[in-house]
Amino acid sequence: MRRSGVLWPVYGRGGCAVGRVFGQSLPLLIRLVLQRGREESVLRRHPWLFSGAVASRGGDGSDGHAEVFDADGRPLARGAYSPKSQILARLWTFDGAAPGLELFRQRFAAARRLREQTLPPETTGFRAIHSEGDLCPGVVLDLYGGVAVLELTTEGTERWEADLAAAAREVFPIDRLVARASGAERDRGARPAPPSSDDATLSGVPFREHGLNFRADLARGQKTGFYLDQRENRARLRAIASGKSVLNLFSYSGAFSVAALAGGARHAVDVDSSDPALALARINRRENTLPAEDADFVRADVFEDLRRRVAARESWEVIVCDPPPFARRKGDLSGAARAYKDLNRLAMSLVAPEGWLLTCSCSGLLQPDLFQKIVFSAGLEARRVFSIAARQGAGADHPVSLDCPEGEYLKGLWLRRR
Ligand code: SAH
Repeated sequence: MRRSGVLWPVYGRGGCAVGRVFGQSLPLLIRLVLQRGREESVLRRHPWLFSGAVASRGGDGSDGHAEVFDADGRPLARGAYSPKSQILARLWTFDGAAPGLELFRQRFAAARRLREQTLPPETTGFRAIHSEGDLCPGVVLDLYGGVAVLELTTEGTERWEADLAAAAREVFPIDRLVARASGAERDRGARPAPPSSDDATLSGVPFREHGLNFRADLARGQKTGFYLDQRENRARLRAIASGKSVLNLFSYSGAFSVAALAGGARHAVDVDSSDPALALARINRRENTLPAEDADFVRADVFEDLRRRVAARESWEVIVCDPPPFARRKGDLSGAARAYKDLNRLAMSLVAPEGWLLTCSCSGLLQPDLFQKIVFSAGLEARRVFSIAARQGAGADHPVSLDCPEGEYLKGLWLRRR
């Protein structure tokens, strides 16, 4: 990294110009021929090819490689083939180039340059590859110091693991790479089981964010180990926290509280239903020599905890509300809307005058305008007046391709009570 030379000690071949491989034929490639009139989204470079658009398949596909043709046999795109998924192929190129080591190097190197230009100083935990947003659909790479987690989220990209891992090692400064193949499960519609590894060296991997010390649990933790996508919101919290009381709901690793206390918060309380999460939150405070009283870690269901606090007429100067996704599929949306409204109504009732509520939703299915409307009706029910002072989603290490707006999932509203 330019600003902190330590982050990029090795510069692999990723930075060099590499030649393109056009029309390279792959022996196991499967040919997917579209129904007439179904080529529109491919021509617009949308990376998801749904199985309903495909008229016929020919070939093998067991190496994960697919090529897409229109009904007249014209080649349109190449990508990763996931036979059991509704999204039959994730499309990587639209110019005839074949996905493979060379292309992975190019794409990863471009992703690295974006991070070099945008990551804050003293930050060694970040998302290095963000799937569609880095033109690498089905691939996520998170770095925690020198430890990388390569998550392959489709069956097709699972087949490319060796080349993807090799390119990652060349382009990024990686001492150890942990690969996770969750694609086949996801393609079948199942939620991948959380990782479970007995490797103790993976349970507290150290890294830095904005100069603060954190540990990620790569053995059993959530996401790839940490919510890297909330970095910008943590920085905003740190900037306003001085002298304030902070209630951190759905706290997981307690990272919001660490940022708040580093910014001079008077007191911060983490609420989560998971004991291991609260234990990690304690560790993260200790890593930064911040106060960690037993009373700062509350194991509870957030909804019940909030009702108790409302009944006790508590008042907080800052509340952070970052729940797990309530809507994972379309059928969940109305239930999710009710849950978001209840949660926000309760949280709003606890915010002091001129206090703050950072309210988030990471359900990709819930559109930003609908989330805002839900929060608006929560405010009406709570009889409290709030203004949106800022909107903040994930940082530049979670880019969203204009061709695939579905990649934008995290919504954060900074609400200021009047
Ligand atoms: N805000 C966190 C990420 C939240 S992840 C961060 O920035 O790191 C969601 C967390 O909510 C998980 O730790 C999970 O254990 C917790 N959780 C889920 N449902 C809950 C509930 N009903 N009550 C309390 N905690 C809950």
